Amino acid sequence: MIVAVASGKGGTGKTTVSASLCSVWDTPVTAVDLDVEEPNLHLFLCPEISGSAKATLEVPRLDEGLCDACGKCSDVCQFKAISLFGDVLLAFPEMCHGCGACLEVCPQGALSPDHRELGEVLWGSSGDMGFVMGRLRVGEAMSPPLMRAVKKRLAELNSQRPGDVIIDCPPGVSCPAVNAVMDSDVILLVSEPTPFGLYDFTLAWEAFGPLNKPMGAVINRAGLGDGKLAAFCREKGIPILAELPFSREVAESYSQGQIVAQATPELNQAFRELAANTRELYLASQSKEAAHA
Ligand code: SF4
Ligand code: SF4
Repeated sequence: MIVAVASGKGGTGKTTVSASLCSVWDTPVTAVDLDVEEPNLHLFLCPEISGSAKATLEVPRLDEGLCDACGKCSDVCQFKAISLFGDVLLAFPEMCHGCGACLEVCPQGALSPDHRELGEVLWGSSGDMGFVMGRLRVGEAMSPPLMRAVKKRLAELNSQRPGDVIIDCPPGVSCPAVNAVMDSDVILLVSEPTPFGLYDFTLAWEAFGPLNKPMGAVINRAGLGDGKLAAFCREKGIPILAELPFSREVAESYSQGQIVAQATPELNQAFRELAANTRELYLASQSKEAAHA
């Protein structure tokens, strides 16, 4: 089972939930940080890193001596990463998405593959738990190709050591967030019961809904705001899998970089129940699928 821990906005406690869920998971699990722009799951899980690899993107390199300024590459590029100005061709590698179309269409062989560094993929373990993360290079704007490299490494590690996967996803509902939840079996939407929390939760529910995956809500800092988030979940039939308290113990534990599920027996029990409810949601969706097959 692949569990994606997502949220419509940052600061809802998504990483806190991911780290805690990993720590109470009672079958083999790999923790994955796909929030590659700002990874911080490792700060809580403190993994021992055993390997790393640079991730790159294939971008075109121009040989001006061969180019006759026909403009075919400029016409095919959807991202304006290679553009003809009069009879001058300019390449903007930072805007390139690595689709390779320009290399395919160039009739003069004036474009050859080069590489742009995206960041790095790191892996290791934290106790019995596997661990994989991506870290985007400072200044790099495109995270999805790095996320694909992280997923590829995860697949290799999981083939050697099969188990469940818990993904700490990027916040929001843009391309990286959708990319992170795409391969999951269950999506947990973490939010807080405030007007901002409800607004962003709604956006996330609408963005991920078309993927037709079972989704459950985790209400963090319960007791902080009002009951509108819970009412929205009831109205839309989104199961509330956990309500985590707004408490001093949680804040203290988080600020010290500790796993919140280990702070008190009550919090540990709350996360164990979240783990059990997540598995139940997954199994229920599997049974439903089987019944429709
Ligand atoms: S590889 Fe694709 S995105 Fe990059 S410059 Fe060529 S056509 Fe544009
Ligand atoms: S397609 Fe090739 S020859 Fe034509 S403008 Fe682009 S690089 Fe130059």
